[in-house]
Amino acid sequence: MTWWQKSSRLARPDRPMALHPCACDPAATRGRRHAEPPAPTRNDFQRDRDRVIHSTAFRRLVYKTQVFLNHEGDLFRTRLTHSLEVAQLGRSIARSLGLNEDLVEAIALAHDLGHTPFGHAGQDALNACLHEAAEDETATPGEPRGGFEHNMQSLRVVDELEERYPAFNGLNLCFETREGILKHCSRANALWLEAREPGGVGARFLAGQAPSLEAQLANLADEIAYNAHDIDDGVRSGLLSLEQLEAVPLFERYRRAAAQQHPGLQGRRLLFEAIRRMLSDQVYDVIAATRQALADAGVASVDEVRRCPPLLRFSPEMRQASSELKRFLMLNLYRHPRVLETTGHARTVVADLFRAYCAAPQEMPAPSTTAPSVGLQRRVADYIAGMTDRFALREHQRLTGLTLFP
Ligand code: MG
Repeated sequence: MTWWQKSSRLARPDRPMALHPCACDPAATRGRRHAEPPAPTRNDFQRDRDRVIHSTAFRRLVYKTQVFLNHEGDLFRTRLTHSLEVAQLGRSIARSLGLNEDLVEAIALAHDLGHTPFGHAGQDALNACLHEAAEDETATPGEPRGGFEHNMQSLRVVDELEERYPAFNGLNLCFETREGILKHCSRANALWLEAREPGGVGARFLAGQAPSLEAQLANLADEIAYNAHDIDDGVRSGLLSLEQLEAVPLFERYRRAAAQQHPGLQGRRLLFEAIRRMLSDQVYDVIAATRQALADAGVASVDEVRRCPPLLRFSPEMRQASSELKRFLMLNLYRHPRVLETTGHARTVVADLFRAYCAAPQEMPAPSTTAPSVGLQRRVADYIAGMTDRFALREHQRLTGLTLFP
């Protein structure tokens, strides 16, 4: 059976799927932090997704780096196109498993809202700045602990920083969406969250519990998406070659199958066809392995899912193959000298901005009267984290007179 015949056994796009008993049901949501009347035409998870799409932070994702800096080329993924791809993969898998598509989509679209400009380099720089600064600042209530971490910041964006509603800060999303956004959390941050919101989104990290299947799915769809699109962008940029990728068993399997079925296929079309097959096979693998895991665990509710180890998963073989691909990308793409050179500049931009705004807060826009009250350093970090790559570069040039990126 070929890869495309297999697919017809896995999904029936012509028929709506019944929801799995372990799927999150919007009618049974644990609710919002601020009570709101229901919307007449949308359930709570659909409403969350729409709130994310209309947020300011979501629009900024279009000019935020995924791996390649935004100005390096028009066709590389940005945080926005990455988030759309995660949502597409998440919805597709959710539909086959009978999970809540709207919730997966809401989490996927929101999962990277807290990323700084310049990707992980920006996050690392901001984290270092806050840790150094913390020594001489007394903690202000209302500030997250432990430096800067993009998952905590994504939650902070939807809980505090968006200013769109008259009655509250943030987007006032449902517990289930917020839980999915907070995919990792240190113990210190979990304790801090738990003190503010007992039994809330920090509690599972203290109790060692899993999140909903929809949250687990958004997380795995993220990995499937970036593994695939970073191969594409890596080759497009010239930093990776098809020959180099022959050493990656997962990719090579599909490249060889595509070349066999289409003799003479080469270059970009061969690359796309191999990636397309890899994506499809990973989707089918997750669906089959998760169905099996759910059956083996004998779970019949969201609460039972939370008490199990993550059940939404790859098969052991695909898990290993995906991890090998991740290692390959780490060594050959994310640590490529050309990428490291730009991330070095990016760190400098963020650190310079942090110092400049702390020394001269009047260079930042004055906070609105309803903005959350935090210390100067957290305010600076929130401001920088919200910047797009190009706005950060313009501000850096304005405040230092330096041009680090030609
Ligand atoms: Mg992501």
